[in-house]
Amino acid sequence: MLRTIEGLDVKGKRVFVRVDYNVPLDENGNIRDDTRIRASLPTLRYLLDRGAALILASHLGRPKGKVVPEMSLRPVARTLENLLARPVKMAPDCTGDEVKSMAKALRPGEVLLLENLRFHSEEEENDPEFAKELAGLADVYVNDAFGTAHRAHASTEGIARYIPAYAGFLMKKEIESLKKLLESPERPFVAVIGGAKVSDKIGVLRNFLDRVDALLIGGGMANTFLLAQGLGVGKSLSEPDFVSVAGEIMAEAAKKGKDLLLPEDLVIAAAPKVGEPPRVVPKDQIPGDMMALDIGPRTRKLFSTKIGQARTVFWNGPMGVFEVEPFRGGTLEIAAAVADVNGFTVVGGGDSVAALEMAGLSSKIGHVSTGGGASLEFLEGKELPGVKILEG
Ligand code: ADP
Ligand code: MG
Repeated sequence: MLRTIEGLDVKGKRVFVRVDYNVPLDENGNIRDDTRIRASLPTLRYLLDRGAALILASHLGRPKGKVVPEMSLRPVARTLENLLARPVKMAPDCTGDEVKSMAKALRPGEVLLLENLRFHSEEEENDPEFAKELAGLADVYVNDAFGTAHRAHASTEGIARYIPAYAGFLMKKEIESLKKLLESPERPFVAVIGGAKVSDKIGVLRNFLDRVDALLIGGGMANTFLLAQGLGVGKSLSEPDFVSVAGEIMAEAAKKGKDLLLPEDLVIAAAPKVGEPPRVVPKDQIPGDMMALDIGPRTRKLFSTKIGQARTVFWNGPMGVFEVEPFRGGTLEIAAAVADVNGFTVVGGGDSVAALEMAGLSSKIGHVSTGGGASLEFLEGKELPGVKILEG
């Protein structure tokens, strides 16, 4: 059982909250998208309303154990201050005497943001001394950063060995949603998997085969499956080294009586660029000098129909090169079909979520998973160290 902050008595306590403030910055160090900061507010407000003082910690970028001024969390403190409508103190570091006294001086309702955890290599090394120092700043630990839960770092795993540890609301929703897919999906359960590569998603494909009623495969990864069917894919993105894996997955699906749907037709062009005239061809007629860049209209219909019959849908991976307008149609149509499902829907993956935003349909999805690698590992059936430590 996941221990969560729901009902937790935090009055007068200092609470260390591991948040995910790994936000995109522009060349001038301004925050380009504050979604992740906004997403943390329910947990922060809940704790503040109950009389806690907050010590917030996150990583930003990949400073690799060194102080990189461009990766300071300082701009985040300013944004958070506006969103919370209360002062947010910025710490000069995440450990050390000065930080310790700043943490100690906090009164209920006050907020301190620590500097980038990954300025110290001990964070990613999960160094016990470093974890202990972090723990020493607070009475209680809360993790609301699902996106790093697949890593055993000092702030995601080590710290929880020293003070009582709980999941925040974001963490809770992410875990409950993904768990529901794996453990108790209402049927029919349809998974739509696309994106660039089979190699990224083999674990998920395999684990899902046992659980779904139908697996719909599109995007670049479908090309490798077409190769496994003995078809040519011209200059399309494909992974010849994974043709045998694709073949195995198809054979396994057949053995288990699961529907595995591949593109029947494709939108092709000479290159993924605006101005290259797109054309629709059946899957067995991709010319040698062309690239498959989106699923065709027949496939869209086939996939949408299957999705429309489902009570549970998981979608990860765009159906084509959605970044380029002429090759966006398949992804948008699938996004619309998923949004229309009368049941429980989960969309995951950075690019898939971006496509969903582009379609303006995020609010019509049951759970938009922002976990990236952590979500995929969870759906592969792996135990995540940052989740395990919050259970029991
Ligand atoms: P997510 O981030 O949602 O997990 P991926 O990162 O696996 O998705 O894949 C997204 C990328 O796949 C996009 O950049 C998209 O352009 C690319 N892609 C999708 N279909 C194709 C295709 N047919 N050929 C080349 N690239 C593709
Ligand atoms: Mg991606």
